[in-house]
Amino acid sequence: MLELSKNEQDYLKTIYNLEKITSTTTKSVSINAIAKKLSVSSPSATEMVKRLVAKNLVLHKPYYGVSLTDLGISQARFIIKSHRVWETFLFEEVGYSMDEVHHEAEDLEHASSPRLIEALYALMDYPVADPHGSEIPAELFWSENEIELSLDQAMVNKNYRITKIDTEAKTFFKKMELTLPQFLKVIERLEDKSLIVREKAGKMLLIPFYIQPKLWVSERK
Ligand SMILES: [Zn+2]
Repeated sequence: MLELSKNEQDYLKTIYNLEKITSTTTKSVSINAIAKKLSVSSPSATEMVKRLVAKNLVLHKPYYGVSLTDLGISQARFIIKSHRVWETFLFEEVGYSMDEVHHEAEDLEHASSPRLIEALYALMDYPVADPHGSEIPAELFWSENEIELSLDQAMVNKNYRITKIDTEAKTFFKKMELTLPQFLKVIERLEDKSLIVREKAGKMLLIPFYIQPKLWVSERK
């Protein structure tokens, strides 16, 4: 993660949210829309966009608009995760009410390192959504000595998080009309080496051996 100011982070979050609601296929947003959303003047939004372009966080094409780079998207998603993890933590663990969490999270989201956010996220057992029902980005922004292995090396009775999946495995899940789980526990390895795994929601899945080297996981401690 980069060192970004609160203001820069707010811009990234705003552009990310505006990109999600634009109906065009181009996925770009205008300086005016950004300025309006953040209640700032167009010249100051233009200034900030220039700064973000210099940091390779956004692209700005005249007459086209502003869009996030991959780096910008990842930074924006971290801030969103930070906000939603804090809201969940305050609500679930600290006893705040639903309407109190947002205000507190607006400050905390900028003051938290990826390490802290991932620790809170793991502590709460990887919640799917915040108290308002908004999805918490599941990707990790910090990890300690995480060891990736392919699923054929996974062990019975251990919990894993899926980290990478290649096209062949994706096709398999699609063909079987299955949603790819984020987390799984290995229940049993059968004689033909296929695996019975249990999703976090409790559903059982059978993963054939030929798919297993195409799926990477890391152990959840
Ligand atoms: Zn909120």
